[in-house]
Amino acid sequence: MLTVTLNTGAVMPMLGYGVFQTPPDETARCVRDALEVGYRLIDTAQSYGNEAGVGQGVSDSGIAREDVFLTTKISPSNMNHDRAAASLEQSFKDLRTDYIDLVLLHQPIGDYPGAYRALEEAVDAGQVRAIGVSNFYPERLIDIALLTRIPPAVNQVETHPFRQESAAHEQMTSLKIIHEAWAPFAEGRGGIFTHPTLTRIGAAHGKTAGQVALRALMQQGVVVIPKSVRRERMVENFDVFDFVLDEAEMQAFASIDDGAFPRIFDHHDPGMIQWLVEERVKNSALGGGHLF
Ligand code: NDP
Repeated sequence: MLTVTLNTGAVMPMLGYGVFQTPPDETARCVRDALEVGYRLIDTAQSYGNEAGVGQGVSDSGIAREDVFLTTKISPSNMNHDRAAASLEQSFKDLRTDYIDLVLLHQPIGDYPGAYRALEEAVDAGQVRAIGVSNFYPERLIDIALLTRIPPAVNQVETHPFRQESAAHEQMTSLKIIHEAWAPFAEGRGGIFTHPTLTRIGAAHGKTAGQVALRALMQQGVVVIPKSVRRERMVENFDVFDFVLDEAEMQAFASIDDGAFPRIFDHHDPGMIQWLVEERVKNSALGGGHLF
């Protein structure tokens, strides 16, 4: 397994398993399958509604807690200091653990500096090993990176062959923040699994287009967390450690991103942010929409 070392010294696998949109009643089976296949990083979030399934899957697998790297994310509906702290307690219960390896702020909305302070306190208390953010574009990331007591270890942003985010990656590298890709397969859009360039590169190594995408992103220094509910795809997506792409292949991969592919979720679009706020905050289990 390739790994990266976070700013806290924690070691994070470069390939993990994501459970966004995995139904809560299937999550335990999926996580157990993924752990049996070999994954050792599981990526969930409070807003996915399946943390309890993740906790059960890890427990069912029989794999020692310390051998699994668990990531969760503070929901937009919990985005202030007190709610973040309280919701973290629930995450510990649901995940059946007394520490979490990495906790991210899911979105830069609401009182996220307050929520971040709650994460810093959880690090101080030894409950959380590393903290970070998600969906922070460069202009937001620089702010939180420079003004926090414990700078983010990770920024998880939409990244896939069609949007490789090379400028954002450079900024993260200069800030010593690990770039983690959400939707490394672009959620199956853009014909990614039959893309001609990915397929051509794969043919030279006996690999699929999807495997080339994961391998290339990791070679760019990006952590990837592909999702599949199907065990045979979990196996395929994990089988990416026995080949290396050369410079010409990496250049061909880079050329797939021609800037034309629209983001799956665009944080510069006020309509999308309004949707997030209305859906997640109004429906908050903690009630009310007043987060400031
Ligand atoms: P992905 O890019 O991982 O794509 C998942 C889709 O690809 C599913 O439809 C899956 O179908 C299909 N698939 C997976 N493997 C294969 C394969 N080998 N061949 C063909 N199809 C395949 O999308 P996600 O949105 O799930 O992103 C990955 C993870 O990133 C999430 O699960 C979540 O943990 C995280 N994430 C974080 C976000 C954030 O805001 N921080 C936002 C979105 C995702 P099937 O399951 O049926 O196999």
